[in-house]
Amino acid sequence: MRDLRVSVTDRCNFRCTYCMPRDAFGPDHPFLSRHELLTYEQTARLVAIFAGLGVRKVRVTGGEPLLRRDLHRLVGMLAAIKPIEDLALTTNGVLLPEQAERLAEAGLNRVTVSLDSLDDNVLRRMVDVEVHVADVLAGIDAASDAGLGPVKINAVVRRGVNDHTIVDLVRHFRGTGHIVRLIEYMDVGTTNGWRLDEVVPAREMIERIGAEMPLEPIDPNYRGEVARRWRHRDGGGEIGIITSVTQPFCSACTRARLSPEGRLFTCLFASSGHDLRSLLNDGADDERLARSIREAWSAREDRYSEVRTQLTARGRRIEMSYIGG
Ligand code: SAM
Ligand code: SF4
Repeated sequence: MRDLRVSVTDRCNFRCTYCMPRDAFGPDHPFLSRHELLTYEQTARLVAIFAGLGVRKVRVTGGEPLLRRDLHRLVGMLAAIKPIEDLALTTNGVLLPEQAERLAEAGLNRVTVSLDSLDDNVLRRMVDVEVHVADVLAGIDAASDAGLGPVKINAVVRRGVNDHTIVDLVRHFRGTGHIVRLIEYMDVGTTNGWRLDEVVPAREMIERIGAEMPLEPIDPNYRGEVARRWRHRDGGGEIGIITSVTQPFCSACTRARLSPEGRLFTCLFASSGHDLRSLLNDGADDERLARSIREAWSAREDRYSEVRTQLTARGRRIEMSYIGG
């Protein structure tokens, strides 16, 4: 266990069709209430325990993490946990212009911003809210100006919706130092109506981009890195492709996930988590919490992405907007 995703809310100001489709996440959706969320103090305490068990990289995510009030306060608390070497945030970007500076001052190292297309109409079809590409680009600039770059730009690729715009996206960010990461559309949760024929395989993405901008593969930065790296042959920087459908990487996975109300998940495709919050509420000491985390981690057998095509019966998997990717 090297890497922890901390989801701080299950709410979002977008309704991405692949993550929180509007018909399943309408006004009556039972989102977690405020008193169900871990407090920042509880989150930081748990993260410190995870750090004691080997975690060195922490990513704050959601839902949309920038909706959580005064998120910079949590960032400051996490940045103070010494063994943590890398503190990052994943966001849809539109609230970054007002928050990037104070997040950077609080000790955030890097951000990833999700941006599925540079075409306003295509972006709106993906995220299903009235947003302008310029709003997200302003967020990327704000992060960069605050010293949170180079920014990673995440784009989920859906055949027939935004796949015709990925070459433009890569071209736009070539030479900027920012790194576009194209994500194979995944069957997370049970609400997005995922179909295999909507997945554009990594190989096809590389062929389409490579036809205009020659690419060559490069080595991973570290064992267990989820993005396959490619670089522009002309020195214009690199891109990544997250191939969790066509080339799963379960066997190298070192990632744990903490939900907004304190459940530990050992896989993105799990259907149930280990309840750490009840232990917190029962007054468990750090040693007891560490033991519980260690037990859950060493008992894990998850390898969903490697066996997805053999699975017929499907349980009710957790939603991406709850656990944060
Ligand atoms: N709201 C923030 C955002 O969108 O960046 C953080 C949470 S979001 C769940 C984290 C990442 O998961 C985003 O980059 C999003 O594009 C990705 N994601 C969501 N649903 C997905 C799916 N079905 N397949 C692949 N990636 C997905
Ligand atoms: Fe919100 Fe991020 Fe999910 Fe889109 S991908 S609905 S921005 S949580």
